[in-house]
Amino acid sequence: MADKIEIRARTANEVPQIAGMFRPLIDGIGHAINIFSIDPEGWMPRDTGIKALAMCKAVLGAHMLNKIGRKVGKNMMLIASIQDLDAAIKNFDNMYHYNHRLNGRLMYDVEKGEVIDKIGHYTALKVSDTEITVDVSSPYQCEFDIGLIEEYFKKFVGERDVIVQHKAGSVCRAHGGDICNYTVSISNI
Ligand SMILES: [Zn+2]
Repeated sequence: MADKIEIRARTANEVPQIAGMFRPLIDGIGHAINIFSIDPEGWMPRDTGIKALAMCKAVLGAHMLNKIGRKVGKNMMLIASIQDLDAAIKNFDNMYHYNHRLNGRLMYDVEKGEVIDKIGHYTALKVSDTEITVDVSSPYQCEFDIGLIEEYFKKFVGERDVIVQHKAGSVCRAHGGDICNYTVSISNI
């Protein structure tokens, strides 16, 4: 039997609200793949999410994908022990897995602190107080990831700004690489 990978559905219903003037198009896409009938407190097939993102990008462009990524980053369900930036960095990949299920089982085991290795990784490392690197090997697209990473870390830096960019000279999944390397820059104030 093929593996059943699912994602938390909490953001699906909120996407039309961020679509602005494109709302009729987003509504059309959502209805076409039946995304709005999914319980936002529940789970949805990952393939449906990936398909929705691909359609949004094709119809509305990369900017919309970035906006959706931001929303997902804001809404990401986190475990209670992540209270500061260091914990957020250390647990980024764990939280990515915590928001996915494999055959009905959470892909991050909170008690053991282990992930099921099947959906790629978001590996974050602290370089300095103002710089983090993140290596991503997920099936999601760069623009989506950039928005997601930005909002994920924003929750832990107070008023400081967060900017995420591909690391200069790095490979990228959109150009045949296996991973994308991102640099997360955090302003001083
Ligand atoms: Zn990339």
